[in-house]
Amino acid sequence: MRSAFPLVRTPHPVPEAERASILAAPGFGRHFTDHMASAVWTPEVGWHDHGVSALRPFSLHPSAAVLHYAQEVFEGLKAYRHDDGSVWLFRPERNARRFARSAERMALPTLPEDDFLAGIEALVRADEPWVPAATGERSLYLRPFMFAAESFLGVRPAERVVYSVIACPAEPYFPSGDNGVTLWVSTSYTRAGQGGTGDSKCGGNYGAGLAAQVEAERHGCDQVLYLDGAGEQGCVEESGAMNLFLITSDGELVTPALGTILEGVTRDTVLTLAPEYGLTPVARPVTFEELREGLADGTITEAFASGTAAVLTSVVGIKGEGYAWTVGTGKQGERTAALRERVLGIQYGRVEDSHGWLRRVV
Ligand SMILES: *Cc1c(COP(=O)(O)O)cnc(C)c1O
Repeated sequence: MRSAFPLVRTPHPVPEAERASILAAPGFGRHFTDHMASAVWTPEVGWHDHGVSALRPFSLHPSAAVLHYAQEVFEGLKAYRHDDGSVWLFRPERNARRFARSAERMALPTLPEDDFLAGIEALVRADEPWVPAATGERSLYLRPFMFAAESFLGVRPAERVVYSVIACPAEPYFPSGDNGVTLWVSTSYTRAGQGGTGDSKCGGNYGAGLAAQVEAERHGCDQVLYLDGAGEQGCVEESGAMNLFLITSDGELVTPALGTILEGVTRDTVLTLAPEYGLTPVARPVTFEELREGLADGTITEAFASGTAAVLTSVVGIKGEGYAWTVGTGKQGERTAALRERVLGIQYGRVEDSHGWLRRVV
């Protein structure tokens, strides 16, 4: 079969011994594989120059639009090695669809979903030796992205756009496994507003969130919990790169409704699995007041955050200006643990993929 992303192998791969030592302790986002996938778009020809070739720096004119106006979107997903050596993606069609939606919001061209999948699969095949063994929740993290590469300073959608995928072997995002995180409720910063880019995976959202992240860390917290524009009179939204879930004493699994939050693949996965754990999935606005009362009177028994990088991570504490609350027992809850094991079990092929979520690459 001819790949839509033909491979030109690098003559200079990382030597095997060096790769082995990287795979033994990959960290997250520090070491990259030998190749990258890429394609270019212009209005005259559409998408062209698809291929997988040696990982190399981009050459950009200083006026390249992305450097000035942040016209950029990205995705994040993982390739998982199963015990029999095979390599799989988890629901990548969802990332393809979300990538197209994000691109549309940022006035970038649409990459056909089949090309999105073909580029990723071609890269994973080319760099297959970089997919870590299934121990220690390791995986190959894949980062597809698209940016405005045209050289010009006028404000309009760029007429030269680059699509690329890079990959890095990764350990769990929170090195502690799931010892739980504490979230900082920021009243200085919001993440999104109606009609904004909160539901798109664009770099600008992350750039704008860094000050809030620094504020959280200054208060001894791991991540930010964003409120909507109405502050403590309003609703809770999500964390900087993770969706939020609450489990109640009457068996509901509550998560903020879509709108200004990012629609996580993990979020949808957890909502789908909930009934199998005796939980009723509910997506609706969650007020800050409800969170405060629920933690105080114990009707919120567990909380966790979800995302591809973090899988399911227990939220064990919530802090803000003048308060510090403990969630449940202050440790990972039972239902969170069960859901987390199930999601990881499916991804690593240890339990049955009863929803047909896996897609084999190697
Ligand atoms: C990527 C992301 C998530 C998690 O999405 P997954 O598809 O589950 O990885 C949640 N919130 C934000 C803001 C994100 O960018």
